[in-house]
This record gives sequence, structure tokens and C-alpha cells, in this order.
Amino acid sequence: MEAMPLVDRYAPSPTADLHLGNLRTALAGWLLTRAAGGRWLMRVEDLDEARVRAASGAEARNLADLERLGLHWDGDVVRQSERLDLYRDAVASLPTYECFCTRREIAEAASAPHDGYRAYPGTCRSLTAAEREERRATRPPAIRVDSGGATFAVDDVHAGRVAGLVDDFVLVRGDGAFAYNLAVVVDDVEMGVDHITRGDDLLSSAPRQAWLTQQLGGSPATYAHIGLVVNEEGQRLAKRDGAVTLADLPHLSPGDVLAQLSDSLGLGPARTTEEALAAMPGDQRFFSGAVWREGGLAQP
Ligand SMILES: [Zn+2]
Repeated sequence: MEAMPLVDRYAPSPTADLHLGNLRTALAGWLLTRAAGGRWLMRVEDLDEARVRAASGAEARNLADLERLGLHWDGDVVRQSERLDLYRDAVASLPTYECFCTRREIAEAASAPHDGYRAYPGTCRSLTAAEREERRATRPPAIRVDSGGATFAVDDVHAGRVAGLVDDFVLVRGDGAFAYNLAVVVDDVEMGVDHITRGDDLLSSAPRQAWLTQQLGGSPATYAHIGLVVNEEGQRLAKRDGAVTLADLPHLSPGDVLAQLSDSLGLGPARTTEEALAAMPGDQRFFSGAVWREGGLAQP
């Protein structure tokens, strides 16, 4: 039997313009998907209302930049802000409890952060009804999933098998907003995503998300975590590093930009997405990061 073509997605947050590091990850996902004859879906992660509003017009600019580079997607754009009912239903189907901890209380009780994330030690899991009642008067609770101390392993096409502890992570924040870890999983299950290409800063959250996928009746995806673009200090590329968005680089044609992105993925300076696709499969450098040096992308 022939394997089903994979379904991957790109998921920009319209809270800023895409920079070359974002576009490079998008190109990598597009290439891995097209090389496998799969479908590449587009999901706008716009749940953070305040930040989306502050970056007025970013969604349209994000999508226009992707199209300019020839990164065309399949189907309609999916927006998280239009899917709140799905998230609400998912939370209702999971074992959860209210958490009243402040950031500081968690920092004091939790073990050392791992990749910037502190596993929640379960402080509020065993509060009595009376205690919860009392705390609600002082602080709106976050909703956490009760994971029962699970561990879960995911498969990454580059990193191999990656196992991690699943803590009782937040599903709904204290301010009522649905958490990133919940929304992406609900969407991936609902959209039929079975292959996830994204930056390797998210590798450590993959076991949590894959575990939740299974709780919601989905099959965990295969992951392809791609190295990020960093500046010369080794920090993730950001606006402070100078001219890093297409709007900052009007002297470069889409072909010039693609040539940089493609070369930094180890595929040579392809000037169109089709040319880059023809250069696939690249070697292992394809999954490596890149360095932003003297205003251009370079292999590390
Ligand atoms: Zn708590």
C-alpha cells in the first residue's frame, strides 16, 4: 500500500513581520512537504489579542511575504481566533484542575528550568473544594491538564527519538486565553497534520504536545525541527539585528532572498522555490541553523 502524502503546516504569529529566520523555517517546511508530495497548510496563530492588535496589519504582510517568495499553501488560511469553540470543547474533554499559583510560586517550587520552561510541580492538584473556593476570591485560576506524571516520546526526522516528561501544563491562562500548547494540538488534530516542521526551539515542547494529541484522539505527528538563525552572539535572530525582514530589504529581489535562504539550508543559491526543490534532498546541513553575519545568512 502506498503511504498517504504527509500534511504539514506553517503557523505564523501575526505579532511582528516575518524575519529571515522565520522565512527560512517556512522554506524548509515547504520543501520537506513538496518533496514528499504532501499538503502544506497555513494557520495564523492570533490568540494573543493585545499583541496582534499592536502589530496592525502583520497577518497580511506575513502572508504576502510568503507568497512573494513562492511559498504557496494549500486550502484556506485557518485563524485560531475563529476556533475558540474547538478549544473550549477540548478542555472540557480532558482531566483538569484549577491552579492559583503565581509565576513566582512556581519558580520557587519547581525544579530548574529546562530550555526556559519550568515543569509544574503539581502544587494545586490536591487542593480541597474549600481551598479552591477561598483562592478563587483572590485570583482567577489557570486551568491545567492532569497528566498523571506521564512521559512521552516523539520521533524527529533529524534528532531521532526524543522523550520528555509531561507536566501538568496550562491549557487556559488565568486571563481566560487558551494556551499555545492547547491550541496548536487541537488544530493539528483537527487539520489532519501528521508532519510538523518548525524551529528547534520547540523540540522540548514536542513530547507534551504529542501526549496531548493522543489524549484528544489523534495520532502524534512526525517532527522535523530545524536549527534557527542566530546572530553572532548566538542569540536567536531578531529585529534588533538590523535589516532582517523583506520590508527592510527592498534592494533584494525575491530571488536574491531565496538564494540566501536556500544556500543557508545547504541547497545552493536556488533563486526559486522550484529550483530549491530540485536540489532536495540536501545533506544533514539542511536541519542545521545558520548565522546572521554582516547582513547576510551564512552556514555556521
Ligand atoms: Zn498551582
